[in-house]
Amino acid sequence: MRKNWMVVVALVCVISLIGGCIAHKVNLEESEKEITTKGPKETATESDVDVTTDPIVEETTTEETTTKGAKEKNIDPNKWMVALTFDDGPYTDGRTDKIVDVCEANPGTAVTFFHLGDRMKTHVELVQREEAVGCEVGAHSMSHKRLTELSLADLQKDFENQQAVFQEILGHDITVYRPPYGRFDDNVKTYVKAPLIIWTVDTLDWKYDNTQKLIDTIQKEAENGGLDGKVVLMHETKQSTADAMETIIPWLVEQGYQVVTVSDLAEYGFGEKLEAGKSYGYKFFVNRDLGSSGD
Ligand SMILES: [Zn+2]
Repeated sequence: MRKNWMVVVALVCVISLIGGCIAHKVNLEESEKEITTKGPKETATESDVDVTTDPIVEETTTEETTTKGAKEKNIDPNKWMVALTFDDGPYTDGRTDKIVDVCEANPGTAVTFFHLGDRMKTHVELVQREEAVGCEVGAHSMSHKRLTELSLADLQKDFENQQAVFQEILGHDITVYRPPYGRFDDNVKTYVKAPLIIWTVDTLDWKYDNTQKLIDTIQKEAENGGLDGKVVLMHETKQSTADAMETIIPWLVEQGYQVVTVSDLAEYGFGEKLEAGKSYGYKFFVNRDLGSSGD
């Protein structure tokens, strides 16, 4: 009897596996335009990205796998979620280090840092601690040059150099990449072998350098689930930004938001695994219209 049961269980497993593989393929279509820069810093409106997913495939498969992974991570896909991102670091003295402290003090919250390779090399322990507390470490080039103005050889070299820094410090490849100033073209998409992450909300924190103003900006955007599904751009260079996080992160949680990494937002919020050679911006990271489910 027992043997028969084992055979039945084994058969069910094999059938589920085959079904999962066949249904796994998701078709994506993407179109984009060249981006425009508004200001000296990262005020560029990002490229026009339009990602459509085959609705049938999405309904039958991604939901199943998403729910399973989400449970392990304790993320509820049906509740509001937002990705806070910080560029240009890492920095110490109450900046990047303070943001990591805030995440650690608020269990279940995680943010994404888009670091410069040159700075990572001089802040090894801090970068390793970011991952240890569950935050995501992404790349932002070696030294903040405009990638679209580099020669192909220099572009390739810049990415490879930072890939080596990631391998040495974190033991893995670059998983998410934000091009400096949000600027990219086809060459960047080809030679940067990681998903390009732009943003939905630009806080202009670097410009105002004011804790209360940043708190006000985010709280206003967050009203009635307004930040659900979105990626918020901030910087590691200002202490005022880190100070604001001390208030903002627990406040977002109180409002019913899950503060998650960019990769988790894509996977559990939108059922998408981020892919190299593609860009993800304000057309991808959109409000999911969950109504009051963040409460
Ligand atoms: Zn930057």
